[in-house]
Amino acid sequence: AAKREGRNIIKVFEPVMLYSRQLRSQMATELRDAISSDQLVLHYQPVVELATNRILGVEVLVRWQHPLRGLIPPDTFIPLAEEIGVIHDLDRWVMSASLRQLAAWRKDLPLDDDFQLRVNLSAVELKQLDLVDHIRGLLRELDVPAHSLVVEITETAIVTRGEVEMYSLLSLKQLGVGIEIDDFGTGYSSISYLRELPVSMVKVDRSLLVELNTRTGQLDFVAAILQLIRAAGLEAVFEGIETREQADQLRAMGCASGQGYYFSRPMPADEATALLATTRHLRVDEGAEGPERA
Ligand code: C2E
Ligand code: MG
Ligand code: MG
Ligand code: MG
Repeated sequence: AAKREGRNIIKVFEPVMLYSRQLRSQMATELRDAISSDQLVLHYQPVVELATNRILGVEVLVRWQHPLRGLIPPDTFIPLAEEIGVIHDLDRWVMSASLRQLAAWRKDLPLDDDFQLRVNLSAVELKQLDLVDHIRGLLRELDVPAHSLVVEITETAIVTRGEVEMYSLLSLKQLGVGIEIDDFGTGYSSISYLRELPVSMVKVDRSLLVELNTRTGQLDFVAAILQLIRAAGLEAVFEGIETREQADQLRAMGCASGQGYYFSRPMPADEATALLATTRHLRVDEGAEGPERA
């Protein structure tokens, strides 16, 4: 049986691997040009204050508008960008382009003072000694206060606590930029590191919400994670909120903020601009207390 299985695996996977190796090397070449050819586009997803459904800010999510393959999601090309060393240029482009967008919004729209732009940073970026200077320069040039920016970093990127990574985190904190651990609960999480790192927020991975209402004990489990984050003196954000029920449950637990398809999908800049120009609260018709009681 094992032999048959082995043969099957080879039969099934060999052509796929070959194809994907070819595709990968072609995509690598194309990805190197994508930035300079203006093929990267930014989408924005609102983050909401759960007590009032007020928009607290947006997360910046990059996509690759490929001339032939269409819109490619980041999970497909970010790992490739990291592997071939393009991630540095990519993350810098995202930081610069999204801060420019924020500066334009701040000029043109009546944004709340506490509105925050949340930008994902690869682990590789934290190792760059000039990362903080680059961000400081952009903030100054665009006249954006540091507290309007939050960087999101996956926990795997920082649990190793390398010297340069710690230097970057401490300098960002000193500058006033918010630091958030992303995808909490999926990587190698030693619980104690939550209290030792210079971070202010923790975003709980959406996989923890998936079974919120189907798996026995999941609600208690999620509530306990929220307590843990609070006990570490940090603010919790939940991603992947897809239903009103989930939003209500997290709100009842006292969770401060969240994001997900229930509130809004990530959207292109023009749609985000139109939304922010007209809307302060999402889904007030159905959930939360509404703006009038906020
Ligand atoms: P992430 O930072 O954890 O972003 C959240 C992901 O969940 C996004 O996927 C978002 O579209 C998706 N999402 C949001 N709400 C829901 C929901 O209710 N249900 C479900 N099923 N999904 C939801 P996306 O845009 O495909 O991004 C995937 C990952 O790619 C991000 O995960 C982040 O790690 C990475 N990424 C995106 N943009 C950048 C970037 O500019 N630089 C770097 N280094 N990484 C990025
Ligand atoms: Mg993120
Ligand atoms: Mg996340
Ligand atoms: Mg995630």
